[in-house]
Amino acid sequence: MKIFIYGIGKKEQPVAEQWANEHGIDIAFTDQELNTQTVHLAKGADGISFQQMTAVHDEEIYQVMAENNIHLLSTRSAGIDGLSMNYLKKYHINACNVPVYSPRAIAEHALTLTMMLLRQIPRLLQREQQQDFTLDGLIGREIHELTVGVIGTGHIGLVTAELFKALGATVIAYDKYPKKDIESILTYRASLEDVAQEADILTLHTPYFPENHHLINEAILKKMKPDALLINTARGPLVDTQALIQALKTGEIAGAGLDTLEDEMLFVNKTRAEQKELNPYIEELLALDTVVVSPHIAFYTLQASKILMESSLNSLYTLYTTGTSEALIQV
Ligand code: NAD
Repeated sequence: MKIFIYGIGKKEQPVAEQWANEHGIDIAFTDQELNTQTVHLAKGADGISFQQMTAVHDEEIYQVMAENNIHLLSTRSAGIDGLSMNYLKKYHINACNVPVYSPRAIAEHALTLTMMLLRQIPRLLQREQQQDFTLDGLIGREIHELTVGVIGTGHIGLVTAELFKALGATVIAYDKYPKKDIESILTYRASLEDVAQEADILTLHTPYFPENHHLINEAILKKMKPDALLINTARGPLVDTQALIQALKTGEIAGAGLDTLEDEMLFVNKTRAEQKELNPYIEELLALDTVVVSPHIAFYTLQASKILMESSLNSLYTLYTTGTSEALIQV
């Protein structure tokens, strides 16, 4: 078997090489993304593993894969919104994802963004550029005094709730499908609106699909407390960014920690010079001293990237040898 790996990082390469040695599998790789220009690089391979922010929605990619007899594809991510279900089906390509890797990586980042905002670190960093070390506006808040509202208590939301709980916060939550026996960690509320109204920190952990588009909109932002923070480490389009900017500017809420943002593929993993088109929100957001933006790095820890690479290669191997895998995406 031969596997071609796209978007390999420096830290991932030794992980992939060790896995290949242990399994006696041929691998080849590139740090480039999988797209219509690069798909031919995988010719001769049986399967492809990739990881990137840009969606793989172009029919030509699937068509060239099928022409080159490549019918196995693995995304090194939990999200499958970067794949086209139609073309997977049309070209008989079996695809898999990594449904769970390190919920802790994302939960710790949500906590980090929260703590940065509670201690006014974005404002501090802006002032320090001018060697301004005055204290006015830098007063912080302590987490054990606050209520954290978790939206979506799946793998990541639950670990996030546990981390905040461990620091003494009161944790409330909303999920369409509440979990049982977690009363020692959090208390469910009946609706998103209820949580938004009560929380000092609202942290999002639901997947994105069309029904969840702009889950956090003008109406929800208006329900939030004026000193509340919004944390989004889930998916950009869960939040109406234009409404969020308005809410931040008018003081309807006090701050936002955004690891994911609408149209983030325009800037994530790109220098300014590499951005062909500017993200429509980024300049306004970065100008605010109540906002932290990170370029979709919540998952990006040594532990998580090792698990992602190994799980992706394991799934391709299992698909190749048995015809199925627990991580197979149903199309
Ligand atoms: P999960 O499937 O385990 O849990 C999601 C939970 O959200 C489920 O319990 C579901 O019932 C709930 N839910 C869905 N829609 C809802 C709604 N409208 N209201 C309330 N609850 C709703 O998912 P997970 O593994 O915990 O991942 C959560 C999110 O984190 C996903 O969006 C994923 O894409 C994102 N994520 C981000 C990063 C990153 O690096 N920033 C990395 C991995 C995952």
